[in-house]
Amino acid sequence: MRDKYIMALDQGTTSSRCIIYDRKGRMISRAQKEFRQIFPREGWVEHDGEEIFESQLQVAREALASGGLEAGSIAAIGITNQRETTLVWDRKTGKPVYNAIVWQCRRTAEFCDDLKAEGLDDIYREKTGLLIDPYFSATKIRWILDNVPEARERAEAGELLFGTVETWLIWKLTGGRSHVTDYSNASRTMLFNIHELKWDEDILRRLDIPACMLPEAVPSSGFMGETSEEFFGAPIPVCGAAGDQQAALFGQACFREGEMKNTYGTGGFMLMNTGLKPVTSGKGLLTTIAWGLGDEVYYALEGSVFVSGAVIQWLRDELGLIGTAAESEELARSVDSTGGVYIVPAFTGLGAPYWDPYARGVITGITRGTGKEHIVRAALEAMAYQTYDLAKAMEEDLGREIQSFRVDGGACANNFLMEFQAELLGREIYRPVCIETTSLGAAYLAGLACGYWESADDIRNNLQIDRIFTPRGSAETPALIEGWHEAVKKTT
Ligand code: ADP
Repeated sequence: MRDKYIMALDQGTTSSRCIIYDRKGRMISRAQKEFRQIFPREGWVEHDGEEIFESQLQVAREALASGGLEAGSIAAIGITNQRETTLVWDRKTGKPVYNAIVWQCRRTAEFCDDLKAEGLDDIYREKTGLLIDPYFSATKIRWILDNVPEARERAEAGELLFGTVETWLIWKLTGGRSHVTDYSNASRTMLFNIHELKWDEDILRRLDIPACMLPEAVPSSGFMGETSEEFFGAPIPVCGAAGDQQAALFGQACFREGEMKNTYGTGGFMLMNTGLKPVTSGKGLLTTIAWGLGDEVYYALEGSVFVSGAVIQWLRDELGLIGTAAESEELARSVDSTGGVYIVPAFTGLGAPYWDPYARGVITGITRGTGKEHIVRAALEAMAYQTYDLAKAMEEDLGREIQSFRVDGGACANNFLMEFQAELLGREIYRPVCIETTSLGAAYLAGLACGYWESADDIRNNLQIDRIFTPRGSAETPALIEGWHEAVKKTT
């Protein structure tokens, strides 16, 4: 396998990406394509399932072509994906019966209230590691079965299949031969018993979801099928899949218990590897499967924030305050502080540790002197405050301090944000050279399965730190944090 490479397909919330990696974890070529965000109503978010697949296929072909590569140069494909996003399609025609309902979508908030009112919170948390929230796939499937004409009858007759995005991509790529999900993605459906590693019959019964539409759950690293010849000219084995946040944890080589990473992407996600045992949170964090590797299943504790870098997109696209996301850094630095302004970007409710699907965003502390630079700075600072809240919750759950704070995701390129984050946390932050850790993680999972990499140590050696951010110890920090918590109270 000397001259071979691994292809990572990274199907994100706003774009589909393909990155081809070599044995040292270096990028050989890449391609990316944005796709449509569909907002049919306030709080609803959808994607076109066909567009997800077509954009992913297109970038895979582009990455091959721009690297001067053919299918035969690829040892294996690894897939990582936006999690929880729910597709239901016709087994025969391969056509989705409805748009993909995206993780951010809040349409099932009332149904979740009903489940909570029945007192199911504790038992669902015990079985699935999750809180009852519209975020997860279960109630989204239920919505499709209830609202798409004939969907329930057809699902019960075995005509419809459900999948999260990796399941959909694998099913399409293998010409409908593999209907599988990996454990990490399965653990985000709120239907999967994370201890027994199987779909939970009681939950399926309560939600009235037929088991026959569910994929087979398999380890995250292992052979999952071969792509149909039509796509790349020759078959390529698919050997790995994991949800984006779990893949990033793997890509940061957080293989040992206690190792963690925080991602600043569209949303913000802190994950800590808790080893072979699930840890239950008392602070609003989720217990989830990190990955299944060989015969072992690793668990993670997760803090999920729905809007992180997306607040910068909002400044750019809706308010027009900045031309590019990167400009936010210079503007934020042009003032000493936000002048008392806070933005709480609860656009689609609040995730961890608050969990309020009805919360909406606020900007507080505006005066006549507030300028756009204060607003931009407040938006970046909000990303750091949200992360601070997650870190505190995680430390309280574990009863000890986080050891090494590693970051990734598009917005961690912002040095102002990283400096402010180090200040809030009062600890060093480590930024790797390759912040595309999500796709790297998917590549590693696939490459380990097919023998491209021998062991975790091979991978750990690839990890390089770009920069360490150190706190200065500003005396104002506690008051700033207090102000943030006052602002959060105003979202409800
Ligand atoms: P995802 O994989 O979730 O689509 P990425 O990891 O690519 O997201 O990160 C993109 C997000 O990061 C966008 O929301 C964008 O607004 C934000 N972002 C990118 N660069 C910067 C920057 N220099 N400063 C602040 N935010 C940024």
